[in-house]
Amino acid sequence: MKSRWNDEDAARYMEAARAAGQNEALGLRIYTSRIIGGDPDLVLHGGGNTSVKVTAPDGTALMHIKGSGWDLDTIEAPGLPAVRLAPLLGVRDGPKLSDPDMVALLRANLVEPDAPNPSVEALLHAFLPFAHVDHTHATAILALADQPDMQGAVKRIYGERLAYVPYVMPGFDLSIVADRIYRDHPGCEGLWLENHGLFTFADDARVSYERMIEFVTMAEDELAGAGVKLAGPQQSDGREDTALTARLEKALVRDGSPFAKGVVLDYRSTPAIRAHAGKENVEAIGQRGTVTPDHVIRIKPWPMVIDADADDAAIDAALAAYAERYRAYFTRNAARSNEPKRMLDLYPRVVLVKGLGLYALGATAKAAKIGGDLCEQATRAINAAEAYGRFTPIGEADLFDMEYWSLEQAKLQVAVR
Ligand code: ZN
Repeated sequence: MKSRWNDEDAARYMEAARAAGQNEALGLRIYTSRIIGGDPDLVLHGGGNTSVKVTAPDGTALMHIKGSGWDLDTIEAPGLPAVRLAPLLGVRDGPKLSDPDMVALLRANLVEPDAPNPSVEALLHAFLPFAHVDHTHATAILALADQPDMQGAVKRIYGERLAYVPYVMPGFDLSIVADRIYRDHPGCEGLWLENHGLFTFADDARVSYERMIEFVTMAEDELAGAGVKLAGPQQSDGREDTALTARLEKALVRDGSPFAKGVVLDYRSTPAIRAHAGKENVEAIGQRGTVTPDHVIRIKPWPMVIDADADDAAIDAALAAYAERYRAYFTRNAARSNEPKRMLDLYPRVVLVKGLGLYALGATAKAAKIGGDLCEQATRAINAAEAYGRFTPIGEADLFDMEYWSLEQAKLQVAVR
């Protein structure tokens, strides 16, 4: 992976920040956030987050952190709201905060009270004692992070440069665990998040960003060294079976469906998607889960899989089987939750056509496109993961906790508006 850093662009963003009466460091943060967001092999659609710590003119320590509803590739200053840092650091060694308490703490410390909600990872960004913190879900990292027992391999590849964080659900718990691991490994330059992604940090914007690029490149080299070819982003070039699309549409647009008012079927067939869809065990692989936790809120835990020649009856049967599986998944997992959960709809967001391609489903073209883009990346990560070892993402219980996490559901509400 190549660094997109350019001195002239960086200077331009610093100058723009100065002209707007903002801290230069915020200008640089906007710049490196955008070059991260501009690479679909680092983050997609609201995934990943970035922050910068600055000192206000009155001496208050502040952190600008990515706000909900913003994408890194188009971020502007309002998308990086400032929060007062000291109260955030105050909870580091305190009792566990509930989700609502954590959100309340973050909101109460926003400098602009009407700013968007700070990222659910804001506390982890706050705890890390560096001006710049960068977090991505890079494709090459996911191919390796979704493997069983990678701790030794991460150590072999990165030595002391990365500290290994076992999977913990994002939010307060991850912030506490990751901070503790960071403090046990002072001098590390980043955190490897099992089944999730990567953090890098430094006081210098460029160093933090280029560490991200370097660590992703090292993951690419690890894959290549194992004979695994990780494809870059691909355009859809396979022919869509419009008769099949029409049959699917007919089956999906019906009373009681989330698509009762219409469905957008975003068809994708790239070489990587066809390689995935052509695997004998594609259905079993798909059942394992999503490549990074927050994909589950957009594409559900698994795709629905159909044959290329599925007729109306076969599609109805597949939808019924999907609904049954989803209901069982909900019932099993809601039972161990300590708060009541309301089941979402029973329909898939991805329909995989064996051997051919996949449809991402959305009530709007935007939702369908986001789903399609996530699948485009995910299939490349899964293919590489399967070639390297065994694609092993978070399990069902963790997927459920993420899908039914009130904070993620709230994020989706912001995103669809
Ligand atoms: Zn993340």
